[in-house]
Amino acid sequence: MGWSLNIGSIAGTAVRIHITFLLFLVWIFGASYAAGGADAAWSGLLFLVLIFACVLAHEFGHIFTARAFGVATPDVTLLPIGGVARLERIPEKPMEEFLIAIAGPLVNVVIAGFLLLFAGAELTSGAAAASLDNTTIPLVNRLAAVNLFLALFNMIPAFPMDGGRVLRALLSAKLGFVRATEVAASIGQGFAFLLGFVGLFYNPILIFIAIFVYLAASSEAHMVALRSVARGVPVSAATMTQIATLPPEAHIDEAVQTLLRTSQSEFPVVDAAHRPVGLLGRGDIIRALKELGPDARVSQVMTDSIPVVNRRAPLDEAVRLLQEKAAPAVAVVENDGRFLGLITTETMGELLMMRDAMPKDAKFGPWSRLARPEKAINQGPIA
Ligand SMILES: [Zn+2]
Repeated sequence: MGWSLNIGSIAGTAVRIHITFLLFLVWIFGASYAAGGADAAWSGLLFLVLIFACVLAHEFGHIFTARAFGVATPDVTLLPIGGVARLERIPEKPMEEFLIAIAGPLVNVVIAGFLLLFAGAELTSGAAAASLDNTTIPLVNRLAAVNLFLALFNMIPAFPMDGGRVLRALLSAKLGFVRATEVAASIGQGFAFLLGFVGLFYNPILIFIAIFVYLAASSEAHMVALRSVARGVPVSAATMTQIATLPPEAHIDEAVQTLLRTSQSEFPVVDAAHRPVGLLGRGDIIRALKELGPDARVSQVMTDSIPVVNRRAPLDEAVRLLQEKAAPAVAVVENDGRFLGLITTETMGELLMMRDAMPKDAKFGPWSRLARPEKAINQGPIA
């Protein structure tokens, strides 16, 4: 995640804080200083740091459980809205996902229980959440209330909250991973509508959360659908092979001509041995023309890191690269490293549309027919 600072690591997982989180701390300090002087400012800050220690503990609940199932957890980032632990993959075994998802909220329940039983915390009448900034209420009480709130909020059954994952895991056992994701995403979106509607009357912030939840549900469903269509299919089946390439030493005016001559918007750059060395997008070409003129070289403005996948690799590997590297395209290569073609998010989208258009039990794709080798699919120009 961009704009975040590494502040160390716990048990091999890097802990990062997002720059907006630092600004948030400064803002809390300033606001409490203005309201109640230095004492209030420090106690406000202390409370906030304790809250985020609880958020971090929550994330490490996910992290340690994920590791127990062999899922790598490279980093966790703290944002003003909470923490995000990055898991290298989401396990598709329902039981594993269920346990990983529920471990976070459980940590908060345990912390609240500890504060209530052993630290003398009390949950005074009802509106605990509303009195969070009320310094006349003892710190332990407020902290216990925050932990219960964190547990409850995260169990809301909608992506990206843990409750959404718990729901999917429960549905998965009966419906399978893909269908369960679709159903869980729909429930999450229904919930988002409800939240937005309530927000109209009570609190506009709820409308923003609703939009966020709605988008997260769609993107989760899309991601899972892409992975499922890619499963068991070789990379070569979805590779665009009729594609114009550029050498790194070409001038930008040549790139402009190629741009106009084709309907591509991404141009792989290949060296003399025909190995992919970069990617030049339409935006790069226009920017180069404006800033450097038509004589600039392609190598000056291309993106020189393009994810590469072997043509025999499974297509889910390419999907994973597209998603993890947030790259516009993945280069497909032969065994000797020579460029074969491109896989883009558009090709994957087309594959998904075709899958949806097929009758349920029909075989999907030319790669299942011996008479017609690959290349029959996605040869057309990309939009
Ligand atoms: Zn969580």
